[in-house]
Amino acid sequence: MDLNSSVNKASRLYKMYAKRLEKLGIYTFKDFLYHVPFRYDDFSLISKIGSVQAGKTVTIRGEIIEISNEYTRRFKKIQKAKVKDESGEINVIWFNQPYLLKTIRRGDTVSLSGKIEKNLNNLVIQAPVYEVISKENPETIHTGRLVPIYPETRGVSSKWLRRQIYNILKSEKNNISDFLPDEIIKKYNFLNLYDALLKIHFPKDHLESEEARKRLSFDELFLMQLQVIKRKTEWSKNIKGFSFKVKENKEKIDDFISSLPFKLTNAQEKVLSEIYLDLGKEKPMNRLLEGDVGSGKTVVSAIAMYIAYLNNFQSVLMAPTEILASQHFNTLNNFFSPLGIKVVLVTGNKKISMQDLDFSILVGTHAVLSDKIYYKNLGLVIIDEQQRFGVEQRALIRKKGNNPHFLTMTATPIPRTIALSMYGDLDLSVIDEMPIGRKRVKTWLTPHHKRKDAYKWIEEEIKTNKIQVFVICPFIEESETMTTVKAATKELEILKKQIFPNLKLDILHGKLKAKEKEEVLNNFKNKKFDILVATPVVEVGIDVPNATIILIEAADRFGLSQLHQLRGRVGRGDLQSYCLLFSESKGEKTIERLSALQKIYFGAELAELDLKLRGPGQMYGTTQHGIPKLKVASFSDFDLIKKTRIEAKALFPKINSYTKLFNKISKETLKEVSPD
Ligand code: ADP
Ligand code: MG
Repeated sequence: MDLNSSVNKASRLYKMYAKRLEKLGIYTFKDFLYHVPFRYDDFSLISKIGSVQAGKTVTIRGEIIEISNEYTRRFKKIQKAKVKDESGEINVIWFNQPYLLKTIRRGDTVSLSGKIEKNLNNLVIQAPVYEVISKENPETIHTGRLVPIYPETRGVSSKWLRRQIYNILKSEKNNISDFLPDEIIKKYNFLNLYDALLKIHFPKDHLESEEARKRLSFDELFLMQLQVIKRKTEWSKNIKGFSFKVKENKEKIDDFISSLPFKLTNAQEKVLSEIYLDLGKEKPMNRLLEGDVGSGKTVVSAIAMYIAYLNNFQSVLMAPTEILASQHFNTLNNFFSPLGIKVVLVTGNKKISMQDLDFSILVGTHAVLSDKIYYKNLGLVIIDEQQRFGVEQRALIRKKGNNPHFLTMTATPIPRTIALSMYGDLDLSVIDEMPIGRKRVKTWLTPHHKRKDAYKWIEEEIKTNKIQVFVICPFIEESETMTTVKAATKELEILKKQIFPNLKLDILHGKLKAKEKEEVLNNFKNKKFDILVATPVVEVGIDVPNATIILIEAADRFGLSQLHQLRGRVGRGDLQSYCLLFSESKGEKTIERLSALQKIYFGAELAELDLKLRGPGQMYGTTQHGIPKLKVASFSDFDLIKKTRIEAKALFPKINSYTKLFNKISKETLKEVSPD
């Protein structure tokens, strides 16, 4: 077996599972090994049958002396068995697992883990986890130990995963070789790679699993740091771009800025000064601009494009959707056409004409990458919502020029710690301040007993102020499945019939066809109905200024960042907007966490808080974010992040001599920034 071979190319059995496994991020056999448990069931207390006590969870081992299917008085199927060891006998009972009799037969030696109950005066082990033990393979993996519990998906149980992982670990022992330099292993007293993998899945005790986790977390962050350093080095090595004249054009730039209909915020000015410095250098700028939706990133990029223009260079702005692209086109055209600067739009639907090829600024979707577009002298690339573009697209646009400056923009609140390790090859600028006068979305954590009042208030607002409302259904599963859709549909019915019989409601969820979605949205925009019930994974781009109230159900299931993004659906016009967070949870911690939204209105700050309170796995629940999931490590482990950075920096200059590590890094490093 090749650990790197993909599951869907393996045996029929695996092929059958491949689609489901993808949901868990398992594509190759190696991925199985890095599918680490999030907890362990403790079945390590092994007891003689004669000495078990009621109420205890234990593992017993013995021979099946009886087993049969029976019916209860209510015609429910139960399975009854008797097991004995040298110390005694005990009854076993399972509920509704008739197929069990195919697996467990009289005479089998079994290991059973479960709770001992008292039934009349007899002890019985109830619905235990079971495992038949063969002479060839006396080791148990589902019972009698710390048993790993994994992230599962429909049709892929922890039990199944455990078996696969165990088999791979046993058969591939000799194919798993360590890549970490000995010095580092010694210095930190790490387990070797194989032992770490073995022990994260099948530890003897919690100490072992912790040790394994430590080693694998280090690996994960360390490799990431090395890749970042590699990319950064490659970016600065041998690349010569164009140094723009900035100071020389100061007057013109200032004139442009003072012609804007508003005054720049301090944050915008600070970011601009960073960009000025970059543009003045021969080494091309490679900067990530982070700022909440509405914080004014576009105008910052416009000023950079103006500087490119003043230096006789073209700029291109690439946006992920047609709507965004044409929105940007309008904005930029308003800024620049009075100055006689040619701005041109190109999308899938709007082709570029011959006479437009002399543009100074091109705005578009990935259509800007088309072979048909010839760039005379591309000097600046702006990418909006960078996480929506792949590395190939970045590389492609880069080749359209001769090492142009790069400014990528994102509204995803990436905490600084993560930004540094993920995007450490980019320089980071943050707009951490909203333009003045922007109304904040008043946010209320609404306790259960105020639900009725809240509904009443909403109905009044709709009637008197003619506003519209979003109702967001609970976050159930990461990708939108029928479960989620059903929950939303049910919510719609309840609201329609019981709460708002006098209002008009409609629904939006991911399983609707694109056309249907568009229709619902258009109807909502055109005020054809009052309340839009929606699932959480619904498009972020919704812009309905007349919607001023958003009600979020089961808010405790969301991360703060997600709630903040959802809250951004309202507050888009001049009207005061409101966000109502409903939660049935009474947990003090939950309430404290959610209360943060009543006080904090800055996305990155909420993200940082989320990271502290819940950890990153939780924070980035949905896939729209550009942050890869860590498999073992945690972005909230600031200490380890720091350590791995230091080690990576120290090792990088010598990495050529560590063949295995070098190969690993080379294989995995993104191609995007290599200069050729
Ligand atoms: P985003 O960061 O989400 O891309 P935009 O650049 O689209 O935000 O800006 C949102 C709105 O705020 C735009 O209408 C823009 O003209 C306006 N804006 C930008 N900067 C300021 C400012 N300093 N003062 C007031 N309004 C501003
Ligand atoms: Mg924007």
